Amino acid sequence: MYQAFLIKYAEIGLKGNNRSYFEDCLVKQIRYGLKSAGDGYQVRKEPGRIFVECPEGYDYDDTVEAISRVFGVAEYCPVDICKSTEWDDILEACRSYVERNIKDKNVTFKVFCKRGDKNYPKESPEICAAVGEHLLRCFPEMKVDVHDPQIKFNVEVRGRLYIYTDSYAGPGGMPVGCNGKAMLLLSGGIDSPVAGYMIAKRGVYIDATYFHAPPYTSERALQKVIDLARIISRYTGPIHLNVVNFTEIQMAIYDRCPHDELTILMRRYMMRIAEKIGLQYDCLALVTGESIGQVASQTMHSLNATNNVCTLPVYRPLIAFDKEDIVQISKKIGTYETSIQPYEDCCTIYVAKHPVTKPLVKAMEKSERILADDIDEMIERAITTRQVIRIMPE
Ligand code: ATP
Ligand code: MG
Repeated sequence: MYQAFLIKYAEIGLKGNNRSYFEDCLVKQIRYGLKSAGDGYQVRKEPGRIFVECPEGYDYDDTVEAISRVFGVAEYCPVDICKSTEWDDILEACRSYVERNIKDKNVTFKVFCKRGDKNYPKESPEICAAVGEHLLRCFPEMKVDVHDPQIKFNVEVRGRLYIYTDSYAGPGGMPVGCNGKAMLLLSGGIDSPVAGYMIAKRGVYIDATYFHAPPYTSERALQKVIDLARIISRYTGPIHLNVVNFTEIQMAIYDRCPHDELTILMRRYMMRIAEKIGLQYDCLALVTGESIGQVASQTMHSLNATNNVCTLPVYRPLIAFDKEDIVQISKKIGTYETSIQPYEDCCTIYVAKHPVTKPLVKAMEKSERILADDIDEMIERAITTRQVIRIMPE
């Protein structure tokens, strides 16, 4: 059983003077993520590295699962720790590591050494050579290959001794929280949860808004969105899910405006409302799951018409993705099975047979003038009567 994990990061290492800020964000997110695996973990920052020390009897799989969901983790390595850096203890710790962890000793290896402790009486090349010799003596089947070793035997001396040979890929990206907050328009479909995941991967906190239209959309459709929010919160951290009752606005559009414009008009009001709610949470952008050409409401003209009502930037991380690529990501992050449950969302109820595919902003504005008398009140009502559900990762 390994006592700790060494966490390696990639982009954060390029941050110059701000590096410490990003490292602290990452440490915070790792601590937070590990809550799902239990208590007693210690997360420590050392120059260029982060160590997670595990409590007695910790669950290896749960720990790995938690770490591998933290954005900003480029690689993680299970490590052995030896408290003593007495030379004989180091040699014995290396031998014991190989004996316990390398089942087939018929392998090639190379020793790598880092000295965090520059006062240590031996220098790195000397440590590498001596550890290599010792391992060859203890395990005659092992062979050294300095060019292409099967096993990279890493030894780090930093007040204590750390030994590791295996390295696994983390999710990459930047730690959530290092990069402001955005409001995700979260529906029950495949795309928007993936879009939220991708933006959070760049270090952005996510809150979400869902528009439902009871009684035309069911409680189960809402529950599906709550479930999706909970799944992505494993990566993004807690989410305020704002559930907005859109029925009144949707009915008004349906009763008074041209039916082929319904979807675009609805989208424009969704964007306006999401922006107003987002500003209450200090969000710096909106996020949607749109992708060029996927449906009539996502042609270049349609996107232009919906975009036109917002002042906040609208980020669409899936804009150039094919559906199949989006499906792949949704399967990887675990939202796919929930997304394909067949509960209608509010757009599917009123879809026109022949929706406009080239809506012009001027035409949309004209149609919206029909609603001018009372739309502001309806928007206000939708915002003030919304329900806010605090979504916590399980
Ligand atoms: P998704 O799979 O994310 O539902 P979609 O392919 O069904 O997307 P649309 O229904 O056109 O596409 O929606 C485009 C985007 O608008 C969604 O990705 C989402 O960001 C937002 N959106 C659509 N419907 C809703 C809703 N009911 N509540 C919140 N956001 C929505
Ligand atoms: Mg949808």
